[in-house]
Amino acid sequence: MKIAIVGGGVSGLAAGCLLAEAGFFVSVYERKNRVGKKLLATGNGRANVSNEDLSAGHWHSESPLPFDPGTYFSAEARREFFDALGIDLVQEDRGKLYPSTLQARTVLNALRRRLFAAGGEEVVETCIDAIEQSKGGFRLVSGDSSFFADKVIVAAGGMAMPQSGSDGKGHGLLKSFGHKKTRTFPGISALLCESPYLKHLNGTKIQGVVTLFRNGEKIASEGGEILLAKDGISGPPVLDLARAVGERKGDYAVAFPMLNHLEQRPEYRNILEGRSYLPLAAKDFLDGILSNKWVHVVLKECSLNGEEPMDQLAWEEREHLLNLLFAFTLPVIGVRGFDYAQVTCGGMALEGFSSDLESKNAPGLYAAGEVLDVDGDCGGYNIHWALASAHRIARAIIKSAQS
Ligand SMILES: Cc1cc2nc3c(=O)[nH]c(=O)nc-3n(C[C@H](O)[C@H](O)[C@H](O)COP(=O)(O)OP(=O)(O)OC[C@H]3O[C@@H](n4cnc5c(N)ncnc54)[C@H](O)[C@@H]3O)c2cc1C
Repeated sequence: MKIAIVGGGVSGLAAGCLLAEAGFFVSVYERKNRVGKKLLATGNGRANVSNEDLSAGHWHSESPLPFDPGTYFSAEARREFFDALGIDLVQEDRGKLYPSTLQARTVLNALRRRLFAAGGEEVVETCIDAIEQSKGGFRLVSGDSSFFADKVIVAAGGMAMPQSGSDGKGHGLLKSFGHKKTRTFPGISALLCESPYLKHLNGTKIQGVVTLFRNGEKIASEGGEILLAKDGISGPPVLDLARAVGERKGDYAVAFPMLNHLEQRPEYRNILEGRSYLPLAAKDFLDGILSNKWVHVVLKECSLNGEEPMDQLAWEEREHLLNLLFAFTLPVIGVRGFDYAQVTCGGMALEGFSSDLESKNAPGLYAAGEVLDVDGDCGGYNIHWALASAHRIARAIIKSAQS
């Protein structure tokens, strides 16, 4: 039986390995000149492939997921899969799992090796433009060429990082079978903010907790390294907030401290308040606790020239200054687009697929990975979903061939 896989990303390659090993003739069609371009960029080139914490709240969709990726592709199933690839995983902060080489290419090489060893093939520089039902199977059209397959897995990714080859074309392939697409928007991305200070603060890092507000109401907060850019804010704790901003319209703002590691200093507000009654010039008071760039921002925001003795400030002025140190607020005007995002929120609606991700409209057609309306949190959850969905489909195809 011939299986065609559209897309040589992590889900396509994983499904390809498993099916080729089970004796199917597998062709992985990839539009780019090589497979796995996005995989190589993941985790800053290190591929954060999964996470120790596989609890259900880490994956999102408009509809209930067809299966729980953490229970189905459990720690044990994951270990078995990576063992078979000859890859050991190591854990870093926040439970993130990486190949022990800390190199994404280790994962890509191992997937390709396993696919070839089992007799599977890659057909690169071949963009699948259309899929049609034909003679009890499917005809895949690419320019003037066409290929026949008994079953097809669309693993063409979403719309994030289109330069890697996934630009939403997979959605079109599935739409042609009557499948619906949910609203798509960029996830795991930087937040665009408006502030006269951002140009000046570009490159500044803060270790702290960032809180997201919608219409003045606190909706999420995350801790870690916050990074300021000239047009907004990013860094690991910020990236996961993008989903909430894209999901619902509203007036958004983020607030974070200018002071590092406040979690280690629970009494710090009292300490600074006490110190603020000393006859110190405001600029000197700030110089001991903030970097230069922040001193400038605080003085400007408080309309001070810096020479004012702290003990002479009015109560309101002192409060305003101290509040600013603990919560600098920026209005959020949007999310950086798909060119910069790590994942697509939304995709092909899950209702159109069985619990084994087989199309309800065209039996024998499957969809894996990011092309579907499933996105995971930052921390390895998207590759985990790509692997879990590929594994699920491969197991279903193997089972159906046996019965
Ligand atoms: C910069 C960056 C860093 C990331 N880091 C992480 C991380 O560390 N951990 C994590 O879990 N997730 C990470 N992600 C997300 C993760 O990479 C994706 O969710 C995952 O790779 C999706 O896998 P996929 O197989 O579904 O799709 P993709 O990896 O996007 O692969 C789809 C493939 O299909 C090909 N294709 C598309 N259309 C066609 C067509 N019509 N014909 C032929 N081929 C086609 C594309 O060229 C592409 O190669 C990151 C994403 C980015 C952009």
